[in-house]
Amino acid sequence: MTADGLGNIIQGKYTGGSGKESPVKVPPVGAKVTNKVTAEERKELLSRNPVNVHNSSVDKFGESGIISGRGSGKKPYISENHTYEKIGEIDFSDKKAIARSLQEFEHKYIDSDIEHCRVFCPNGEVYEVHGDRFRVNTDLLGDKMEGSINEHNHVIGESQYSFSWEDLESSAKDKSYISMAYDEKFRYSMTFPDTELTEDIVYEAYKRAENSVGNDLKFYPERIPIGDEQHERIKRACKELGIKYSRVPR
Ligand SMILES: [Zn+2]
Repeated sequence: MTADGLGNIIQGKYTGGSGKESPVKVPPVGAKVTNKVTAEERKELLSRNPVNVHNSSVDKFGESGIISGRGSGKKPYISENHTYEKIGEIDFSDKKAIARSLQEFEHKYIDSDIEHCRVFCPNGEVYEVHGDRFRVNTDLLGDKMEGSINEHNHVIGESQYSFSWEDLESSAKDKSYISMAYDEKFRYSMTFPDTELTEDIVYEAYKRAENSVGNDLKFYPERIPIGDEQHERIKRACKELGIKYSRVPR
């Protein structure tokens, strides 16, 4: 959710925003199964410097659906044209290979005028989801997001230089392991803990972060550099939620 109050209700389903009415209680489920990355591997995934990319065969699946999932958070938008495709397979334990693939992904879509998300599933499947200017509907992949490492682009000119509320909310909900995103300036990541983060917990933490940033902007504006408002919201919310958040220049 953004500071300007752009929440929206799509097909009766809450996807973020200040207009939240009653958060749905989600029963805790068991700890997600992930192939843990080491601190070293995590660093490599975020600040990667790979040399070549994996060969991906194209195995097309097109599908449309309701819009939720990730987005820049700048504008609510509905599109019928979100699609996904399986682009290949990878050894999920080979984090160098994933970093190389993501390097290629970033290069491929840096100038794109729509969002894309590349998803590495724990079983080795690699998907790309294609969205619109403001969102990419990773919900299309359903359970395949669980335990995944994924990255999406924010369209140049639309980025808030961090994750949107929708990115945080959808990553927690779909049980992503590491979610990353990038824009023309930065690459950022969230590594999720094993503990279950219910929609309530995530929402409350984000609201507190949003209020605290709002308070600082009002009374101590020198604390938050211009352009880093959303970075601060996400940083504070992640800290409270036990999510490892970082942002690096690209
Ligand atoms: Zn996003």
